[in-house]
Parts: sequence; structure tokens; C-alpha cells
Amino acid sequence: MTSTTDLATTSTVEAAKAKAPSGQRVAVVTGAARGIGEAIAERLGRDGLHVIVADLPSMRAESDKTVATITAAGGTATAAEVDVADESSVEALVQTAVTAGGHLDVFIANAGIAQVEELLDYDAADFEKIVSVNLTGVFNSYRQAAKQMVAQGHGGKIIGAASIVAFRPFALLGPYSATKWAVRGLTQAAAMEWAEHGITVNAYGPGIVGTAMWDLIDEKLAAKNGQQQGEAISENARSIQLGRVSTPNDVAQLVSYLSGEDSDYVTGQTVLVDGGIQFS
Ligand code: NAD
Repeated sequence: MTSTTDLATTSTVEAAKAKAPSGQRVAVVTGAARGIGEAIAERLGRDGLHVIVADLPSMRAESDKTVATITAAGGTATAAEVDVADESSVEALVQTAVTAGGHLDVFIANAGIAQVEELLDYDAADFEKIVSVNLTGVFNSYRQAAKQMVAQGHGGKIIGAASIVAFRPFALLGPYSATKWAVRGLTQAAAMEWAEHGITVNAYGPGIVGTAMWDLIDEKLAAKNGQQQGEAISENARSIQLGRVSTPNDVAQLVSYLSGEDSDYVTGQTVLVDGGIQFS
């Protein structure tokens, strides 16, 4: 198992290799090795930010691929390793961003996990695990990002991953839904506390996005309901007004807006990007 110190050392070395040009805005994206986080990282790279592509050490090869895609498109990025459930690891990640670009301007707390299980069958250790990544991970990310931004004194953008289940939970995704509901609450409280520092705090609420996470949800729902693979996602997709499952890029476009100056007067919001499943 990789220790926190190892994670910090690897990150700092990588950061030194890919120093961002001064003046360029710097963004951290957690869970950026694949799925929605990958799309966000690539979009922010195209927007001209230096992107710290952060994910678990076990996802390093995928994180490196995300970095390669950003640089091939003319952007700049640094791969970093983090476990968001460990606050000292997140602290080291923020230092990686500062080493790479001199400052931190945007932090996207995207990392998350899902588990499909009935409440009565839910294992206590699994409950702890989902809370530690989806809620404690966002708490650690928000706090460490805000500490750095407050010290810098020129504001910033902090953005977390919520979900439609932050407004209307799904059965069989009870603890997952509870963590996302909590992210919505934490986002509102953080927005209130850090407004005086010029920091906006918002969250994005995707609906059904075709990523590895939904592959897993579909597989588990199908097994529980005696359906074929793909049936559960198709059934849920029927509730989407715009008539199609989301792509990660649909979410990245919203996060690009929340990361830029056009959203300077938006804070404390959990913005749904779900094709019209749930109205807030
Ligand atoms: P995904 O499983 O494809 O990717 C999640 C990434 O997070 C992975 O690369 C994983 O390695 C990383 N990760 C997991 N635990 C981590 C940890 N402790 N530290 C650092 N990184 C960690 O998921 P996705 O579909 O891209 O989802 C991204 C975010 O969006 C999640 O927070 C998810 O809950 C949320 N979301 C997804 C959907 C959807 O339909 N896919 C819907 C609503 C919300």
C-alpha cells in the first residue's frame, strides 16, 4: 500500500517536471483518470488552465493518459496521486498544484464511488467506505482548497460532485444518495463561510452518465431485478426529457462555466445537468 508520504513525494516530483507558465490559472481535478473527471480535466485544459490530474495511485496509467490528451490538444497538465479520504494526501495534492503553477485557482472535488445494495443488506464497512470517499473526501478537498485560496487572498472556485440523488434519492443507492445530499448541504455552508474571501462554492448534479460507474450500477440493478445487462440503464433513461443518456462532456461543459468568470455571481448552488430528469 502506498503511504501518504509516498503520494506527496511522487506528486511533487511530477509537478516539478511540468511547471505551469506563470499567470496561467491552475485547477485540480480529483478522480480525473476516467469518466466525468477525465472529461472535466480535458475541458479545463482546453479552457487554458494548467490541470492537476489527480486520482488513486492504482489509476496512474489512466491519469497519465488524461495528461497526454490535454498536452496533445495544446494544454498543460500534471499527473498526481491522491486518496481524497485522507486529508494529508489532499493537503499534499494542493501543494503539488502550488509547486506546478505558483497558486491554486480552481478545485474540482469529483472523486466518488457508488454501491448498489438494499439498506437492510448494507455492510457497515461498506457504508463507512462510501462516506469516507464521497463525503469526507469532499470535506477534505473543500477545506484544503479553501485554506490555500484564503492564504493567497484572491478568491477562487471550489466545485463538488453531487448528483440528481442530492434532490431525489434512488432506491438501492441509499447511502450513495445520502452522501450526495450531504455534499449539497456542505456546498451551501462552505459558500456562506467563504464568500467573504471571494471564493465561490458550487456543485454539479449529473443524472445518468454513461461511465464505468453506471456500468456497475446497471450490472447490479440488473442482477437484483432479474434483467439483462443494459436494461436497467435503458429503463432509467426513459425518464430523461431530452431523450438520451448523458455524456461526461455534458457535465464538463457545466463545470467549465462554474470554473470561469461568467459564474462569478453564482454560489452555494447544486446545478443539475441531467437532461431534465429532476427539476430543482
Ligand atoms: P468513475 O467511477 O468512472 O470515476 C471515478 C474516479 O474517481 C475513478 O477514476 C476513481 O479511481 C476515482 N476515485 C475513487 N475513489 C477515490 C479516492 N479515494 N481518491 C481519489 N480518487 C478516487 O465515476 P464517474 O461516473 O466519472 O463519476 C464522477 C463523479 O460524478 C462521482 O463523484 C460520481 O458520484 C458523480 N456522479 C456520477 C454520475 C453518473 O451517472 N456516472 C451521476 C451523478 C454523479
